[in-house]
Formats: sequence, structure tokens, C-alpha cells
Amino acid sequence: MSDSAPPPIRPLPETVVNRIAAGEVLARPSNAVKELLENSLDARSTTVSVACAQGGLKMMQITDNGCGIAPEDFRFLCRRFATSKLKTYDQLQGGEVDTFGFRGEALASVSHVAHVSVTSRTAAGACAFRGTFRDGALLPIDAGIAPDLGGPEDPAPGEDVLQAYLTPTSGTQGTAITVEDLFYNVPARRQAFTNPRAEYVRILDIVSRYAVHYPGVAITCRQHGASRADLSTPGRLASPRQAIQAIYGAEVARNLHDIDIPRDTTGDLKVAVRGLFSAAESRFRNPVFFLFINNRAVSSPSLKRAVDTLYANLMLTAGGKSSFVYLSLTLPGAHVDVNVHPTKRFVNFLEEDRIVELIVSTMADRLQTENTARRFEVTP
Ligand code: ADP
Ligand code: MG
Repeated sequence: MSDSAPPPIRPLPETVVNRIAAGEVLARPSNAVKELLENSLDARSTTVSVACAQGGLKMMQITDNGCGIAPEDFRFLCRRFATSKLKTYDQLQGGEVDTFGFRGEALASVSHVAHVSVTSRTAAGACAFRGTFRDGALLPIDAGIAPDLGGPEDPAPGEDVLQAYLTPTSGTQGTAITVEDLFYNVPARRQAFTNPRAEYVRILDIVSRYAVHYPGVAITCRQHGASRADLSTPGRLASPRQAIQAIYGAEVARNLHDIDIPRDTTGDLKVAVRGLFSAAESRFRNPVFFLFINNRAVSSPSLKRAVDTLYANLMLTAGGKSSFVYLSLTLPGAHVDVNVHPTKRFVNFLEEDRIVELIVSTMADRLQTENTARRFEVTP
């Protein structure tokens, strides 16, 4: 029995709270790239380019040609839980949310653990504006003056007030967001990243996923200063297979089977599955497993495990080395809970076991037939 007084309970200072929260949303540079890329897609961009220095730790810049950000909204851009997307909790519950973002946490989080600057121009704007952010707030250009920008209920600040915060610049329609010195104020996190190259590979992985899933959007990713992109799709492509061809080459794209399970309108399993998967004798350098659920890049350990097991067995006989699998699942919005994980990487969905079984058995049928026939089928 302790006879000492209990330690007092006190709320943490706001900056500490925000920094802790930011550390959950942004575990590593690729999480930030994913959030910024999703914002660009939410803004209906048709071109998105990503540039990174030192695996995104020193710098990451995402430039798009989307709808842009109104100058008077810059004040809320990095404010936590400020968003243009979600308005009511019911929208989230009803699965009505058709944007990646919904909780206004990404840019706020980034601004608490990095230096953020944003240049943006709307279709109606006469020029672009640039602002810089720190710890959730828009910084005045001259640190000496800090006029009140007002809260959400206040009228939009006038041009004279905005002048103290925003620099007019030239620029085309769209948004460029630059994030520098990620985790500069979280030394333990910063030091954990000893291999910037490995972080860049993760960034390339997430950008590739979106480039495959959004063949209509021209997406590039490069190291800062490099003249050649490491990944580039031209946009306006008709199918993920064409995007795969642009990224991984014609040989890879040609040797993929289609999976297309329409939604069964009579049964209770309301899932539709589309995707592409490699033959069991494929010998890619690295395995690829891209999963999208309702257009979000997510992880499903159970589906991945089942697919890996399927290939492991078949590849033994077929002499394959690694597989390429891209799956896109569409479920009723109300069956998916996207808000279970801070990085939105995992989602919960109803009937997961049965859906995994359906997908894997469909793929197994195709791969086993092919294995038995011992021929290389080429899907057009
Ligand atoms: P969320 O995406 O959840 O709304 P974010 O912190 O990612 O939260 O972004 C906050 C808001 O900033 C968005 O709701 C959007 O209005 C605006 N925004 C962010 N990035 C862009 C962009 N690239 N183009 C246009 N608007 C953007
Ligand atoms: Mg967002």
C-alpha cells in the first residue's frame, strides 16, 4: 500500500497534444506523401507531381492542377479539424464521404512536425498566393505584425488583412505544397530514419498505387533535382493495365489476368471486385500487392496472407518467383469503417472472411487451370 499522494492529473499543453497527435497520423514520410497526394486527387487534379529530397525527410513537394485554395481559406488550411469535405457525422456513418479526406487532420499534423509552405491559385483568382505555416497557424510575413485572422464564424478577412500573411506570386491554377525538415522537432523520430533511400522506396510504392488506380491522372514522382522521373504516367489512360504498362513495362502488363467479379445483386455479399493478377510462373524482381477498397489504398493483412499462400503453393510447381496483384474492391459505403486507424491505412469491412474466400478462390481457379494447361495465357 502506498501512502504517497497520487500524482496530480493535468491537461497537457496544446502544443504537446498536437505534436503527439501528429506523430500518430504521420508515422513516416510516405504517410505525408499519401495525404498530400489524396488532397490533390480530392481537388480533382488531372496532373500531380511529387518531388522528394532525402526520402522526403529534407523536403517533399506535391504540385497539382486541381481546384486550388481560396486566399481567404488559407487561415484554416493547417488548422486541426478544419475541412472543406465533411460537414456532418452522419455523412461518415452513411458512407456518403466520397473524398479521401474528411477530418481536416493531415495538413495540421504536417504543420506540427515540419515547415509547410503552400502556393495556390483558383480558377477565379487573378494570381497565386503563397503562405507559410507553423504549428497549425498561418504565419505573418513580417513577424512584427500579426493581425487577427478571425475564426470560422467570422466574415472572411479583407484583402488588407490577408496582405500581412499571403504573398501574391505568379502561378497557374492548382496547388503546390512544400514540406521541409519533417520531424525537425521530434528528434527521436527523425533519428529513427537512418535510410532515406528506403523511405523513398516507400514513397514510390504509394505513388505507384495511386498511379495504377487512377490511370486518368498524370502522376510523376522524382528525386528533387533529378531530370528524370522514377515513375511517370501520361494521364488520360483508359485502364489500370495501361498505367501498369507505363510504370512497369509492357511485359509485366501483358502477362496479367483480369479479375472481375460483379456485385451479386441477389446474395448478401455486396462486393464487386476488379483487378489484375500475375501468372504463377511470373518472375518479377519484387512482389507487388496493391489493394484499394472504395478507392482508398489500404492494407488487409488477411487478404494479403491468403493471396501469398495461394501463390506460394502454385509457384512451387510453376517455377514462379514473385507475384503482381492489384485488387480494387467496391463495397456499400455503410459496410466500411474508414475511421479505425490514424493513418487510414486499415479499414474495417463487413464479411471480410467471405470476401477474402471469394477473391482467392476466383484467382485460384484461373491459376490452377493455367498451371494444368501449362501454357502462358495472354489476356488482351
Ligand atoms: P481533409 O483532406 O481531411 O479535409 P487536410 O488537412 O488534408 O484535411 O486538408 C484540409 C483542407 O485543405 C481540405 O479540406 C481542402 O479544402 C484543402 N486542401 C488541401 N490540399 C489541397 C489541394 N491540393 N488542393 C485544394 N485544396 C486542398
Ligand atoms: Mg486530406
